[in-house]
Amino acid sequence: MNSFTLTQATGVAEAVRDKASHESSAYLGGGTNLIDLMKENVSRPTHLTSLHKLPLGKIEQTPEGGLRLGALATNAETAWHPEVEARYPLLSQAILAGATPQLRNMATDGGNLLQRTRCYYFYDLATPCNKREPGTGCSAIGGYNRVCGILGTSESCIATHPSDMCVALAALEAVVRVAGPDGERTIQFEDFHRLPGDTPELDNNLKPGELITGIDLPAQGFAKNFTYLKLRDRASYAFALVSVAAALELDGNTIKEARLALGGVAHKPWRDKEAEAMLKGQPATADTFRKVAAKVVEEAKGYGSNTFKIELAKRAIVRALKQATEMDYSQNDNAFQNSNP
Ligand SMILES: Cc1cc2nc3c(=O)[nH]c(=O)nc-3n(C[C@H](O)[C@H](O)[C@H](O)COP(=O)(O)OP(=O)(O)OC[C@H]3O[C@@H](n4cnc5c(N)ncnc54)[C@H](O)[C@@H]3O)c2cc1C
Ligand code: SF4
Repeated sequence: MNSFTLTQATGVAEAVRDKASHESSAYLGGGTNLIDLMKENVSRPTHLTSLHKLPLGKIEQTPEGGLRLGALATNAETAWHPEVEARYPLLSQAILAGATPQLRNMATDGGNLLQRTRCYYFYDLATPCNKREPGTGCSAIGGYNRVCGILGTSESCIATHPSDMCVALAALEAVVRVAGPDGERTIQFEDFHRLPGDTPELDNNLKPGELITGIDLPAQGFAKNFTYLKLRDRASYAFALVSVAAALELDGNTIKEARLALGGVAHKPWRDKEAEAMLKGQPATADTFRKVAAKVVEEAKGYGSNTFKIELAKRAIVRALKQATEMDYSQNDNAFQNSNP
């Protein structure tokens, strides 16, 4: 690990100024990803702007009837917040399916959005990786790519975004609030992360120096019929091979509104709006779900050791939609069945 200087900023403007005044700098949230990357020499900032003292830890109502998650609220505080549990249980379930209680106590909501890929080669300095060192090549293509993507990949990179929380945020149509050297702005969640294209070193559409200040959830939380299904190698403490956030609004057995997003399959949380449109107005049956699942993976591409994900994703979508349909969580205390112990 290289040496670095550290500033404890106490306000948003001060944090933005401090980061900008150091050439090779990074914001420090909970540090659960950044410090690991620094220890591995994958990330080498010479200055950190710590966000710990920023007044961004609150979870509060928005004037529009939604909920604002402060960027410094921890993943644990968010998942167990009474408003999140009651109104956005899909989000609670997704967060609790990730990492471990200890990590969730440290990890912040802002940092969760910016965690970097778990592609093995990205961490291995002895191998070429376009994301770590642009222009060097991609070791995962033609290599061991079991954890890599099947949708929206490019010839430069087939990495996946590893977050569970972000898959639920994509399905819920969250909005990311940021502040930077040019002022404040909001970014729709679907526009926040990027596909790799020929610039896989860029994971998201933040401008240089921008700080995430919060995440807004709209009023509609799909609290009755939802599922976060995470398929992984171990029951806990493992990233998703494939995950599905499914949220439905039902009128009897007819689907009035649907949201569908996948994790573990693409460089960004993969929300499929065409699949959602296919679900709307249809009966909530296994037949409907199978057709939709087939559509989602229509253009999926396997790279060898990850080709199994195409069938896995298809089956996971059907199962998640079935679970979301059959279980009215408002009457069922089983919301956290997929959670880590
Ligand atoms: C062993 C292990 C297992 C894990 N398993 C899972 C899992 O199953 N599912 C899952 O989703 N996650 C998992 N994680 C990842 C974990 O959720 C993330 O590391 C965590 O959410 C990152 O948050 P942080 O606050 O610690 O970020 P940090 O490590 O502090 O920062 C991450 C990045 O975000 C930047 N940053 C932080 N806050 C802000 C901000 N407000 N504005 C702008 N930039 C910011 C930092 O500069 C850095 O680039 C795991 C992590 C570990 C170590
Ligand atoms: S998939 Fe992306 S992160 Fe992994 S080796 Fe290739 S370029 Fe690097």
